[in-house]
Amino acid sequence: MLSIDNLDVSIGNINILKSVTFKVSKFSSIIGRNGAGKTTLIRAIMSILPNDSGNIKFKDTVLTDIKTFEMSKIGIGYMPEDRRLITDLSVKDNILIPLWTLSLKKNDINYELEKILAFIPEIKEFLFRDAFQLSGGQQKLVSLARAMIVGKNLLLLDEPFEGVAPALAERLVELISELNELNMVTMITESDESFSKKINAEIIRIERGQII
Ligand code: ATP
Repeated sequence: MLSIDNLDVSIGNINILKSVTFKVSKFSSIIGRNGAGKTTLIRAIMSILPNDSGNIKFKDTVLTDIKTFEMSKIGIGYMPEDRRLITDLSVKDNILIPLWTLSLKKNDINYELEKILAFIPEIKEFLFRDAFQLSGGQQKLVSLARAMIVGKNLLLLDEPFEGVAPALAERLVELISELNELNMVTMITESDESFSKKINAEIIRIERGQII
């Protein structure tokens, strides 16, 4: 279970998240308008942003004690809203990046990659292209794959449906709904609840940095 308790986060000297408290045990969606604080919340969970006060725990691990690059070791994967692929690396290398911290053997790395490609087979078509050659939608899929390859316990997907063409949005609904069947915690964000309802996520609302 992901549990957030009285979390305050500031950017510069502006307090963005205010006493954020909630628990998530399965499949949930943080809904809030632009600027409500969704990305700030996910970045705080990933230790990309420091907290002013409060606690973030996943199972028994205090996440604020863990560095971002160590999140993969405890099975936490993150898909940023703006994808953040390394554009001059191949798609394959981009997907494998989070595994670098795990010191896996080559066979195990191949096994993990094969599992992801079985889940999102369309990536096979462009696996060896450089990421800059992909469309925005294809980059979204690669970013999801990169999060999934390590996110076996907790998967954080920031606005996965934002700005994608309708056909890809439907495909993402299908893929993310399948994640719901797995024994893991998935938390997505969305600016309204249209897709969150389709994937049957538990809805948590955020407004001006506060859970309402
Ligand atoms: P969006 O869907 O537009 O990304 P969001 O809900 O994810 O919205 P955040 O990106 O978390 O919202 O932003 C929350 C607040 O923090 C906003 O008021 C935003 O202006 C502010 N903010 C975010 N990043 C910065 C930054 N680098 N510098 C200053 N203010 C920031």
